[in-house]
Amino acid sequence: MKVTFGDRLIISLAVLAFFFSFWYVSVSLGQQNGAKQVKVWQAEKLIYSGSLEQQRQLRVAGCVISIKKGSVRVLKSTCPKKLCVKQGSIQYVNQSLVCLPHKVVITIVAPQQEKAAVDAVLR
Ligand SMILES: [Zn+2]
Repeated sequence: MKVTFGDRLIISLAVLAFFFSFWYVSVSLGQQNGAKQVKVWQAEKLIYSGSLEQQRQLRVAGCVISIKKGSVRVLKSTCPKKLCVKQGSIQYVNQSLVCLPHKVVITIVAPQQEKAAVDAVLR
């Protein structure tokens, strides 16, 4: 069998489409689950879990926590040194804010990566 230019073209297009579909699936999954999550813990209990893109204000113990367009900060706190307020805002995965006197921990976690990975395998 002779391989013509047309055959090569079709094969290379098929290979391209194959890789492109992987890229497309991972990008679209990334957009669906793309929002980083904020988790707020108080005394080792999970108080709040939600999207970092959602605008929200929470009162946890003596802290007023503000979540706004991709970043979190402690706006006000009744703790003596107000270190949590001075930490300013965080916006990256694995960053955290801590208020020791109130036992409040705020962390940013990655969008549900495990779930996306499993979905990609199943597809
Ligand atoms: Zn504090």
